[in-house]
Amino acid sequence: MMRIAIGSLMQETNTFAPVKTTLETFRSYYLLYGDELFTGYKDARVEVPGFIDVLHEANVEIVPLIAGFAASSGVLTRSTFDELVNDLTTRLQAALPVDGVLLALHGAMSVEDEPDAEGEMLEKVRAIVGLEMPIGVSLDLHAHVTPRMVENATFIVGYQNYPHTDIYETGVRTARLMLDTLQGRYQPKTAITKRPMVLSAVNARTLEGPLKAVADTTREMERSGRILHGSLFPVQPWMDIPDLGFGVIVVADKSLADAQASAEELADMAWAIRADCEPDLVALGEAIRIAHEAPEGLTVVGDAGDAPSGGAAADNVGVLKALLEYGADRAKRPTYLTICDSEAAQEAAKAGVGKEITFKVGHKLSTMDGEPLTITGRVRLLAEGTYLMTGAGSTGLTMNNGLTAVIAIGNISLCVRSLPAFEWDPAMYASLGLDLRGAALAFVKSPSHFRATFGPIADRILIADTPGPTCANMRKVKFTRVTRPLYPLDEI
Ligand SMILES: [Zn+2]
Repeated sequence: MMRIAIGSLMQETNTFAPVKTTLETFRSYYLLYGDELFTGYKDARVEVPGFIDVLHEANVEIVPLIAGFAASSGVLTRSTFDELVNDLTTRLQAALPVDGVLLALHGAMSVEDEPDAEGEMLEKVRAIVGLEMPIGVSLDLHAHVTPRMVENATFIVGYQNYPHTDIYETGVRTARLMLDTLQGRYQPKTAITKRPMVLSAVNARTLEGPLKAVADTTREMERSGRILHGSLFPVQPWMDIPDLGFGVIVVADKSLADAQASAEELADMAWAIRADCEPDLVALGEAIRIAHEAPEGLTVVGDAGDAPSGGAAADNVGVLKALLEYGADRAKRPTYLTICDSEAAQEAAKAGVGKEITFKVGHKLSTMDGEPLTITGRVRLLAEGTYLMTGAGSTGLTMNNGLTAVIAIGNISLCVRSLPAFEWDPAMYASLGLDLRGAALAFVKSPSHFRATFGPIADRILIADTPGPTCANMRKVKFTRVTRPLYPLDEI
């Protein structure tokens, strides 16, 4: 009976995110050991269940190692990475002999002293199993792919879609290629190429927009049998590390030269449309003006720069400052926004409902890109901060913002919350007694996902060019370590 070891360590690093990622961060999502991999995923449609389904069906003995996940956050501490990887490699060593190794990785993980975490991880796995053993790897489309990863893996398969709708299927594709390799049907050869450009996530989707043509050509190459798998890696853009860029990885049967030629062709196509991928952003002051000059209707504005879904602390005061400069506190119609600051929420709670307070909000965590702002307002409401989501796709799920205080600054309602939960649902405001239909303007700390849920109630949706760790304007991201020239920072 064939034996295949499986494992997964996934985290998307945002090097601009203020808080480092630790074992606790992984534990707060999931960290599974050994046989827990068979039960811990429940009904989740992700890569590891995809591996397991394919291998079970083929009557392969599965050797489960470790599986850990953390959502977008800051760099991993060295001790966290070492502990996770040591656990993986120790279990693998103990399980030998195996016929192959399947790993589901994100691909954009960075350690505080090592930008290419997956490269280091795969090098360690390769050292244990030797040069001949097939190692198959699945990656997120936002992976920062490196030659070191390709050298140490036998083949690499990425998600085809962004938004990610084929995560389980990617696990299936990767496991099938492993079986085909072990059964001698294919001899996978894997090529990588990169282009010096970084695309804003706002406009780098694969099923619509400028990148679709490149994704379609990739699928066509696979269908025609010219290649086994082609993967585009537009990369998670908020990583200030060397060699950041658009990657393409192609797996072809037997011929590395064929794989390389196809990879170059796809990368050239992507490079040619780089200017079309620039996001449609509105200056922050302009977005506020549009909303308040409209005689009626709700304008929902994505505060793309401070999105917790991308690892931001949601505590940037840039939007609040701009609102006060514009005079939204004196405007006829209301404005709603949030800021994450647990200390400030507690101060407001201490003052009590109906009391006026002067206090500092923001930048308790993200101290690099702004300073706390002193404001005066009235505590209008205090809430536990949990609410049921009502929007498409997430109806019935509970979100938790922790202790939340609604502070009225004239006609601005500032929701000071304690936890940086994703801002994906209108119930976030409705649950605090804030009626969106009566407002001129509501800010949402999200670059694109909120469109599905806020779209039906908004008269217009804009994405603002706002500061913060998930800034959508690549020219304004405070890169210092990336390799230059890099488009669009440099005109190339
Ligand atoms: Zn992704």
